Amino acid sequence: MCQYPGCDASAHEVDHIVPQGLGGKSSLCNAQLLCGTHHKQKTAQDVKVMAKADRQGVRSGQQARRKRNGSQIQSRGFDKRYRKKMNGQVERVT
Ligand SMILES: [Zn+2]
Repeated sequence: MCQYPGCDASAHEVDHIVPQGLGGKSSLCNAQLLCGTHHKQKTAQDVKVMAKADRQGVRSGQQARRKRNGSQIQSRGFDKRYRKKMNGQVERVT
């Protein structure tokens, strides 16, 4: 049965939920059965997502680096529990 929501066509095609081009694995937990129509539709969407990722430079290794940088920026911006004093000491703000 096709796993596309609301579709009950018989499914014959195995689709990668996360496309291999975006680091998806060839394992069962990243696989779903789709009918031919929805597999084509999903693949067309994947191609768009991958093209967008290419433009933003977030594919494969670059994606992981960008995520780490992002969390550093976030903790600097939003973590107000610590305050750095003028002499370089860090104190906890309660
Ligand atoms: Zn379908």
